[in-house]
Amino acid sequence: MKLLLVEDDRTIAEGLLYSLRSEGYEAVAAGSVKEAESRLAGEDFSLALLDLGLPDGDGTEVFDMVKRKGDIPVIFLTARDEEVSVVRGLDMGADDYITKPFRIRELLSRIKSVLRRSGGEAGSEIRLGDITINTASATVKKGDREVLLTALEYRLLLCFANNGGQVLSRSQLLESVWDVSGDFVNDNTLTVYMKRLREKLETDPQNPTVIKTVRGLGYKAGE
Ligand code: CA
Repeated sequence: MKLLLVEDDRTIAEGLLYSLRSEGYEAVAAGSVKEAESRLAGEDFSLALLDLGLPDGDGTEVFDMVKRKGDIPVIFLTARDEEVSVVRGLDMGADDYITKPFRIRELLSRIKSVLRRSGGEAGSEIRLGDITINTASATVKKGDREVLLTALEYRLLLCFANNGGQVLSRSQLLESVWDVSGDFVNDNTLTVYMKRLREKLETDPQNPTVIKTVRGLGYKAGE
């Protein structure tokens, strides 16, 4: 599931890319109409997030390109004084819009609902051993059985899912879980969460295979 973000404000773009990736989406950014055009020419996307005011044109131009390419859902990211253009965008067939400044949680829930409506959630499954994560519905299964995770456990699991077999240090994990949730999580809390997550995911929590411990370094997803 790949998202195209068209936004010329680098700070906003980088923050959004980070949050989208933490949620399990693959995401790339373009800072202008021209950049968006070349991205669209070479890659396929499941959804586009479009800023309206761009240095070399207007987000609605990108909208036209996106819709020429296929039926890809679009969410406009707008400033308060751009409502008129937004109404035009919605008339043209945009799926939703969100006014800046917005909360990242709010944007993520809009993205999910737009993807659900467009039927784009298929193919958004990530597998780790016998664990299947559906990032569109935020559900996790072990074999055929659904595993109920708290929001924080889910985010922790996604960190592993998004980083393949890479070793993640405790500080990397703390940073990504902390950054997204806004709650302070300390090192001991991480240990407790890892233990709970393993109890829910592992067949034998004493000999974990889904998420392995790498002594002195951190953790990594098993094969
Ligand atoms: Ca802008």
